[in-house]
Amino acid sequence: MSGIGLELAGVSAAYRGTTVLHEVDLTVTRGELLVVLGPSGAGKSTLLRVVAGLQPAITGRVRIGDRDVTTLRPGRRNVSMVFQSYALFPHLTVRDNITFGLEVRDTPRAVARDRAAAAAAVVGCAHLLDRRPGQLSGGERQRVALARAMVREPDLFLLDEPLSNLDQELRTETRGELKALHLRLGVTTVHVTHDQTEALVLADRIAVMRAGRLEQVGTPDQIWRTPATLFVARFVGSPPMNVLPADGPLRPAGMPVLPAGARIGFRPEAVRVGQDGTDVTVERVDVVGEDAYAYLRLAGGDRIAVRLPAAGRPAVGTTVRCTVAWADTHVFDEAGHRTVLG
Ligand code: ADP
Repeated sequence: MSGIGLELAGVSAAYRGTTVLHEVDLTVTRGELLVVLGPSGAGKSTLLRVVAGLQPAITGRVRIGDRDVTTLRPGRRNVSMVFQSYALFPHLTVRDNITFGLEVRDTPRAVARDRAAAAAAVVGCAHLLDRRPGQLSGGERQRVALARAMVREPDLFLLDEPLSNLDQELRTETRGELKALHLRLGVTTVHVTHDQTEALVLADRIAVMRAGRLEQVGTPDQIWRTPATLFVARFVGSPPMNVLPADGPLRPAGMPVLPAGARIGFRPEAVRVGQDGTDVTVERVDVVGEDAYAYLRLAGGDRIAVRLPAAGRPAVGTTVRCTVAWADTHVFDEAGHRTVLG
């Protein structure tokens, strides 16, 4: 067996005559958890649907493990998909929901029941087997959907925003459980989300999508430290990375002369507020526990966000000074691509 879990080569897809996925190349290593991250409408669900076989590829090939599945129907691809809505059958018990796919595939009933019980135990819903979906909380339904996906022992898990129906606390908890589950099962997984924190926490690698194309594929560290484009730089991070014209008022000490049209980017935590540097006006300060987010207006009119300890925050309306280290500065060319200098 090869080390490839999933491979897309030149895959395009269309929705009502409009191309919404443009010749995507992507390789997921066997056992890897890849998170597809992007704003709504970027084509994330379409990508999953093409992999699952629910929507045709109009160009390119899809391979799962050693098999070219491009023309196989969904049932023959051995993938399990968990949707945002979970899509549980309300009139069936949890046990029957979990075994449903197996029985369709002629697994003997006793074997199906054993496998359902085992899968339910792994995701912590063994005590719910006799209930119906209507008697479960959102988090419990999510677990049942995962158990149903697991019980089929797929070559590939496809998870489409599986945490988005959960409230904040449960989301964080379930995110941790998903990660632990992935480590335990080791099944190649493609997880779609628009939530950058979820991507950073969960992923072995992140594929950032925009308008039907991949902007960058890399480890969470690479995406964070060396964003390939302005889009990635600003999509990942909250508040987003500050971006200014390189010839503007805030000039990192030691910055070389940059090409015309270049822009510089630096994260809110990279800005030092104190006695030195460029004069800025404090427009707004939000305190979030130990941190404060200050929004500062530069002489030219640009605004930047700064993160600093709440105890050391400046007062709204005052003028303070700030600096940014060159080492913390990202450079992008006119087209928004990362520029590596020297
Ligand atoms: P994402 O999952 O990133 O939000 P989608 O893959 O759902 O993006 O959509 C990609 C593009 O295709 C969007 O422009 C969307 O409007 C269009 N599209 C795809 N499927 C549908 C659908 N079933 N109904 C409406 N629009 C769709």
